[in-house]
This record gives sequence, structure tokens and C-alpha cells, in this order.
Amino acid sequence: MDSMSSVQRKGKNRIFDCELHIRQDMTVAYASEGYYQFVDTKSSLPVTDFLGPEGVELLKGIDGLLKEPKECITTIDNLNGKVHNIFFHVENSARMEVEGEHLYRAYMYDYKQLKARNNKAEEWLVKYRNFLSWSKLFFFEYNINTNNFIVYRYSSEKATQMVNADLDELFMGRKESVKRDFAEIEQMNRFVTYLKEGTMSFEMEFTKARGEGEVPCKVYGAQMRTDINLMIGVFQPINQSEEEEEEYFLKTSSKDAATGLLNKSAAAEFSLEQLRKNDGKVRWIVMMDIDDFKFINDTYGHLFGDEVISRMATIAKKTLGRRGIVGRFGGDEFYLFIDGIEEREEIRNFLKTMVRGFYYEFAPNLKVTASIGVSKYPDDGTDYEVLMSKADKALYIAKEKGKNRHIIYDEKLHGSYEQSDKHLNAVKYSISKEKKTKALSEFFCGLTVSGVDYLKEEGVLPAVCQVLDIDAISVCTDYGRSYVCGTEDHLLGRNGVYGLFQNERYLRLFGKDGVYIENKAAKLVSVMPDLYVEFKKSDIGATIQCMGKVDGKPHSWVSFSVLGTSRKWNDSDIELLTIVGKCICNLLDRKA
Ligand code: GH3
Ligand code: MG
Repeated sequence: MDSMSSVQRKGKNRIFDCELHIRQDMTVAYASEGYYQFVDTKSSLPVTDFLGPEGVELLKGIDGLLKEPKECITTIDNLNGKVHNIFFHVENSARMEVEGEHLYRAYMYDYKQLKARNNKAEEWLVKYRNFLSWSKLFFFEYNINTNNFIVYRYSSEKATQMVNADLDELFMGRKESVKRDFAEIEQMNRFVTYLKEGTMSFEMEFTKARGEGEVPCKVYGAQMRTDINLMIGVFQPINQSEEEEEEYFLKTSSKDAATGLLNKSAAAEFSLEQLRKNDGKVRWIVMMDIDDFKFINDTYGHLFGDEVISRMATIAKKTLGRRGIVGRFGGDEFYLFIDGIEEREEIRNFLKTMVRGFYYEFAPNLKVTASIGVSKYPDDGTDYEVLMSKADKALYIAKEKGKNRHIIYDEKLHGSYEQSDKHLNAVKYSISKEKKTKALSEFFCGLTVSGVDYLKEEGVLPAVCQVLDIDAISVCTDYGRSYVCGTEDHLLGRNGVYGLFQNERYLRLFGKDGVYIENKAAKLVSVMPDLYVEFKKSDIGATIQCMGKVDGKPHSWVSFSVLGTSRKWNDSDIELLTIVGKCICNLLDRKA
């Protein structure tokens, strides 16, 4: 009895996936079990009797051998009340029926399941890319047909190509460069032969390091199972010390041209990689900003200012040595990521030595000082953003307290420190997600109690702007005809957005979820000049907009904007702003 019910359950939940061999008259020659179960006693009918119109049309359109497979999304109906949405694929079958009549082979996949499987596959892909980013391997691919050879490496989940060339040309050049080293030439020849012959799998070594960034390595290669013309494999570096590896990173990363320091994104990438090691080792994040640098520029000229920055970069690098990396975040702002120092006392000594170096470099004519903020991994956080925000906050406090000092972040002392708007960057970081959520719950309570009128109460919208770090909000309703409210002096939407709602291209910017996210309004200038002009009138640099529909027509509209500058919205901004926006839209749409 038990086993019976389990079979039934299995049958009920069965995914509708099957393979059919179809005759030219559309009757089924053979099919997998699932198909016979599904159509039951009607299996002698042509398959077109069960398919939806898309499937029927697809099959009717074919005549003789197919040039290429055909696919569509359609339904299959067993004429007994059971219907599945399926992905339908038809190609020539290798099998023949009597008298040499050829068959078509078709696959039917349950569409919903297919989508779920796709999503799952995508998740796996992201996971694999993550793994690959942590590995020290180089990957290669060789296409036997085109002779194209590619080497790449993963970093931050993205593949970066190191080599993309014709295999013969590549190795011709290399053989010339190694001249008479026969052992090496032999290794290269062997490698090329393995690839060209499409060897099922091979293993070998390159024992010598040649060009820049290259190291001796083991090579594993194989033929791709699904495409015999594709060879794939990895280079695994051998005996690579930590130091060499780091140098390698520094070489290939982009640098700040003026100082030779790592630029902001390379420094961030390096830091993220280090933090991901998750090995419990202490690390320090240091933000440094030169004091009164404008004065130096104004007094001695911009060129001398540049000279000061470049000499400070050299001193910082020399003092730090191999204990970490130094980056330039632009302007007079520097960044250090330190992993070779453990103790607080030691980091203090290091910082003191470094600033003494700055000071004596230009003394006695000019006294160059800097303010420094420091946070510590893992004590102050394990997340790069969090550590950055704390170091940045400490830097801000160092400036506030009179500059020329360093401050190591201490939650007890600095956790509740409120920053003024002067240092906008720090303000942005200082609002924690908890604080934002708390402020927003208050906001939602207000909305629930007083409805949309709550938005018009004094101070409500400015408070939202403050916690979510945006400059302007406006709200419209009544199919875009009327303006509900907005922040003071903000023009967008003042006369409604009826005009915008008539603009098909504008509406298309909104995703299925009714949200439009723009990081950089300036880039609209070439693609949608009319919208660009509209945004420009209100000085919008970046915006997130939500739209609500009633009877399929755009009805309500909320915009959150940053003025005068672009903004790369992060996930948390997007999440919180769209929740607020959608909530307002819902209220307005419900009233309609
Ligand atoms: P504070 O002590 O508060 O840091 O004041 P500050 O004068 O150093 O001002 P701030 O850090 O806000 O601004 C740095 C100035 O550095 C702004 C800009 O004029 C100048 N600057 C930015 N990049 C460069 C550069 O590459 N070379 C030179 N010479 N000056 C730059
Ligand atoms: Mg400065």
C-alpha cells in the first residue's frame, strides 16, 4: 500500500520531459515512457493533435530534412484535462523507419521546471566563478578548427584574458626567444602537439619561467567531451612564493599614473581578495588625506602639489615595504591595506614613522602633514565596506580634532560620533543599515496611519532624503496628471509627469517590476536627449524611479534623485528606495 502511494505521488510530481521520434506524417514511431503515459490510449494519434498552436505550426512548417533544429514554447494537452507548458525542440533523427523514411527527433521539456533548472544552473555558475577567483590557476582553451589559443584567469568572478592568439604564431615567437634551450623547445612542441592532435587528456610541465608574470607550471589538458574540436586545460604554477604572487598582482593591476600606486579599484580588488582568505590574520585599513593641500597648491602651484603627492607616495611605499599595499584614491587621498602588522602599538609606530618621513621630506620650508583614520580586521568588521566606512569615519574625526594626527577606530569612542554634512562621504558611510531600517519603519507607520498625506507633513521627505542619502523626491499620481508632493525647489514632476508617461521609450526604461534605475543621467544625452533635457532642468545626476499601474496604464510615480553628480547605486540603496517607492505607489493606485 505504502509503495503504491509513493509511486502515485511520484507520477503526480513527475516532470514532463520526454523524447519522441516522429514520422513525416506526424505520428509517433517511438517515444519515451512518459509520453505514452501522458497520452494514454491515444498514442496512435499524430503528435500535432496534442500540441498547442505554436507546436503545430512549427511541425507543419517542416518538409524533408531540417537544415537546423527548430524550437518553440508551446503546450501539450492529453485531451483529458492535463496540460503542460513545454519547451519543444525538433531536429533530424539519426534513425530511419521502413523504406528509408527519415524521422524527426523531438524533445519536450517542462517549461517551468526548465526555468527553475536554469536559475539553479546560474547559481552554480556564480559559485564556480567564485571558486575560480580564489584559485591560482590559469585556464586555457584551444580551438582545433581555428587554431585560436586563449589563456585566462578569474578574478572577482570575471574571466580576464591574458593571451588570445594563433597558436603557431604564439609559439613561433616563443621558440625564437628561447633560442637554443632544447629542453624548453621540446616542451613547447609537446604542448602544441597535444593540442593539435586533440589528445583525450594529457599532463606535462613547463619547467622554466619565461616572460613577465610567468612561472614554472604544471599543465593539465583534455578534449572537451561535448566538442571534440575544443581543448581545455589549466596551468598550475609550481613553487610560487607568496611574494612573487603579490608582485604578479601588482604588475597586472591598473595603477595611478601619477604616483605608480594602485588605483582605487585595483586597491579595492586586492583588499577584497585578501579579506576573503578569512584566515583570522589581523589586517588594517588606512585612509589618509593630506592636510590643507589646497593651501600647498595655492601657494606653490599645482605642479609642486603634484610633486608633493608623488613624493609622499614613494615615502609611504618605502616605509610600508612588504607589509601591505598603498593606493591612491584620487586627489590628496591615500589608502593603505596592511597585513604584515599585528599589534596596535606597532601600527602606531609605523604611522608615526611614515608621517615623520613626509614632514622631513619638505621641512623646513614647508610642513606637510596628513590626517589618518584606521580600522582593524576582523575586530571592526569583516566586510570591506564596513571597514572602509570605519576608517573613513576615523579620518573624518582626525580632521575635526585639528588634523595632523591618526585615529584608530574604537567603537566605544567613535560609534556614536555624529558627523556634520561637511564630509559627505563619511556621512554616507555613517548611516548604518540598522539606522536606515529603523527610520524607515517609522516612515511606514506614518504612511499606514495618515496615508499619502503623511508625505506632505513637514520634515517627512527631508528625513527620508537624509537617511537614504539622496537629494530630492517627487511624487505624482492620477495617470501622471497631478503632482502630490516633493522636496522643496525640486522641479521634476512639479507639473505632473503626464508628458513622460506618453513617451514610450521612457516607459520602456522601467523593468517588469516598475522600477527604473539610472546611475548616470548624463549618459542619456546621446541615447534619449529629450529625457536628458528634462532631467537636466532639475540637475538630476542619478535617479531611481518607481511606477505603479492601474488597469495596465501608468498611474503613480515616485522619483528619488541625486543632484549634480552621478551615483553608482548599491544593492542596499536599490532595495530600500524601491520598497519606499513601491509602497507609496501602492497607496496611490489603491485610491484610484
Ligand atoms: P583638508 O585638510 O580638510 O583635507 O583640506 P584640503 O585643503 O586638503 O582639501 P581637500 O582634501 O578637501 O581637497 C584636496 C584638494 O587637492 C582639492 C584639489 O584642488 C586638489 N587636488 C586634487 N587632485 C590633485 C592633483 O592631482 N594634484 C594637485 N596638485 N592637486 C590636486
Ligand atoms: Mg586634504
